[in-house]
Amino acid sequence: MSDLVVEARGLTKHFGAIEAVRGIDLDVPRGGCFGFLGPNGAGKTTTLRMILGQAPLTAGTLKVLGLPVPAAIREIRSRIGVVPQADNQDPDFTVVENLRMYARYFGLRPVQVADRIEELLHYLELSDRRNARTRELSGGMQRRLSIARALINDPELIMLDEPTTGLDPQVRHLIWTRLRQLKSSGKTLLLTTHYMDEAERLCDQLVVIDHGRIITQGSPAGLIREHIEPHVIELQGDASLVRSLAADMPGLRLVTVGETHYGYARELKPVLERLENTPGIKYSHRGANLEDVFLNLTGNDLRE
Ligand code: ATP
Repeated sequence: MSDLVVEARGLTKHFGAIEAVRGIDLDVPRGGCFGFLGPNGAGKTTTLRMILGQAPLTAGTLKVLGLPVPAAIREIRSRIGVVPQADNQDPDFTVVENLRMYARYFGLRPVQVADRIEELLHYLELSDRRNARTRELSGGMQRRLSIARALINDPELIMLDEPTTGLDPQVRHLIWTRLRQLKSSGKTLLLTTHYMDEAERLCDQLVVIDHGRIITQGSPAGLIREHIEPHVIELQGDASLVRSLAADMPGLRLVTVGETHYGYARELKPVLERLENTPGIKYSHRGANLEDVFLNLTGNDLRE
């Protein structure tokens, strides 16, 4: 069995004049969670769609679970689970009917299916909504149904496109717990997300994609070490005062995003001593995180 669940070389996708994915190389190891981060329009969903055989490659080669895309796409799909960006169950079917319909698509036997559905309803805490029509479900329940559906064929690889976007904190925590359990049971997760805290919690490895290219790759902790100073001081106060203070402190790199000023520093003590003696500026400090790395690498300009 190959140790790589996705192996891409020179993966390229053009939509007419738009170069959505520009020749990326990817090695996704078996087991654990591999994340795709990137601003809107970076090419993440297009990459996932190529892996799923939904978008033909413009150029490059791609193997999924050791099998070539598109030649072996039927077998590949039978071993993958997909949680798409938008919940797309049939609104007039009940929860159970939606799962049954999906199980039929995979050719599972009815006896197997009944047990599997019970198990999944329990796992995603949907048992008491089993006979509700999908249109009656809250956003959080619909997303849990999407995850249950993606697991119906007991897939080796689970692809999740922004699985917790728009969900409340309780549902996000339940989904994170389930995704961690899936990882521990040996599944491979491929995840896109705009939530840096989610990527830090779940991903073992991740790539940052921008303008259709991979701009960096590593573990969350490794990327933080590599790309950013360890200390972040958030500053509030008159913008010109903040700027002149920062200009006078060689150990502080100032970045302004919207109305927030972030000071990045290798040494915390001298910065705090100076701030304590500067009236008119409020500040708080914290450790650097993946969001700092992301903004540092992809800039502060709005995308699509
Ligand atoms: P988001 O975070 O907003 O989901 P993304 O990183 O997933 O963004 P993609 O959806 O892969 O980005 O889009 C990459 C580029 O390709 C964008 O410029 C997008 O407008 C374009 N694109 C994607 N799908 C199509 C399509 N079917 N036809 C034409 N252009 C497309």
